[in-house]
Amino acid sequence: MNPFVSKTKIVATIGPASFSASVQRRLMAAGVDGFRLNLSHGDHEEHAGVVASLRKISAEMGRPVAIVVDLPGPKMRLGKVPKPITVRRGAKVRFVPEGVSRPGPGIFLPHEISGLAQGLRPGSIIFIGDGMMQFKVKSIQGEIVETEAMVAGVVRSNKGVNIPGYTAPSGVLTDADKRGIAFAVKNKADVICISFVGGPEDMLAARALLPQSGKYRPCLLAKIERRQAVAHLDGILAVSDAVMVARGDLGIELPIEEIPGLQKDIIHRANMAAKPVIVATQMMLSMVDNARPTRAEVTDVANAILDGADAIMFSEETAIGHDPVAVVRIAKKIARQTERRLVKSGAIALEVRAAIRSEDSIDDLVSSAACDVLENRTVDLAITPTATGTTARRIARLRPRPWIVAITDNPTVRNILALSSGVFPLEVPSVAITDFELAKRIKDAGLLRPGTRRLVITSGTLLGVAGTTNSLKIIDVF
Ligand code: ATP
Ligand code: MG
Ligand code: MG
Repeated sequence: MNPFVSKTKIVATIGPASFSASVQRRLMAAGVDGFRLNLSHGDHEEHAGVVASLRKISAEMGRPVAIVVDLPGPKMRLGKVPKPITVRRGAKVRFVPEGVSRPGPGIFLPHEISGLAQGLRPGSIIFIGDGMMQFKVKSIQGEIVETEAMVAGVVRSNKGVNIPGYTAPSGVLTDADKRGIAFAVKNKADVICISFVGGPEDMLAARALLPQSGKYRPCLLAKIERRQAVAHLDGILAVSDAVMVARGDLGIELPIEEIPGLQKDIIHRANMAAKPVIVATQMMLSMVDNARPTRAEVTDVANAILDGADAIMFSEETAIGHDPVAVVRIAKKIARQTERRLVKSGAIALEVRAAIRSEDSIDDLVSSAACDVLENRTVDLAITPTATGTTARRIARLRPRPWIVAITDNPTVRNILALSSGVFPLEVPSVAITDFELAKRIKDAGLLRPGTRRLVITSGTLLGVAGTTNSLKIIDVF
């Protein structure tokens, strides 16, 4: 298997369509780099089983993948519906608190939102599942909210609920989130996503719950899906390890037409900070049922890459879609085609480097110099020994033509780097090794493809010590 499938990374949400080990294996073979477990659905035991299965397959295939745990956050959700409910347009649908007995026949949707009936008035609109379904409130009878479906659709368990003007309590990590962090730490998840972040303080509160010592340092990702998060983006970026353009809730909390511009801003600022950025939601939603994506979806994936996204994420497509593997295969093809254009135009590199000149860190100067050398046609690969992954990410954000092989002795750092565009992470027992040993390891891992002539290696005076990268070497391969 060619290790260098596409520079843009793919994150696939696991759900009923991808619980089986055989689908997971095929997803990895198709080039998935990160698997997302959405703790809003399923229980911890089920998710622990998925983690074990993915780790086993990843080790067998020698393919580094990030396990991404997404915390529920203070999101309003429906309760359990025994099986998917098909709703016709105009149907009468009643929302009842979970546990309250059903007051007769008809369609009932259980929910877990305290005080929902008090917060609504006739005429209010309830959105379900990123706004795909809409219900107009007709009347309120005690705890029961009577509505009419404004569009047809299918309702499933635990779908998200949004009501304009009725916001979930902000900021705090919920008890479910705290349990989720404990679950993630216990299972050594590589990335932990904090939902509905309002400001840097939310990220700091989450970080305080992580182990403060030892080698396991998960990547803390801020989901940008609220107006406050957009307003405090730079502060959030400063204390986060990665961000996600979480377009599902973002498109409801803010006017939907603001999404394209916000996506570009968030990505650019994440690129500048050299932090991985993932674009999520409805990337190829039509492939839940269809064999091919729409032209608009293909263009959306390509545009996210041209904007500078490190990774594209799939939700329903791989969690409940009819063919998760086909989704990944098509995404990889779009990525390969689009990356050629991106490298040729050098648009992102120009933008980022223009800003780097005004900074002065040695890291910035080394990454910028590395990219100068990598522009030369005789250079085929960059190698960056890295303790924290920073050096690799600083070079990667300039989107050079050659791949970057990041060498680390920390398995979590390796897996997190799987989400950075153009980076192939390789774990070695120790990074304090000579260039000759380094080149040999890369060769043994099958990463020196035929025709590789010249390598660029970054290094520091203190081998294996974080933050000391200060030099570049150029070596010919014999
Ligand atoms: P979020 O706002 O966190 O994105 P979501 O409800 O949109 O929540 P996604 O993870 O985007 O959830 O996945 C889309 C759908 O796939 C879910 O609404 C759910 O129907 C299904 N799904 C995802 N994970 C699971 C799971 N572990 N078990 C069952 N169904 C799942
Ligand atoms: Mg979603
Ligand atoms: Mg969300």
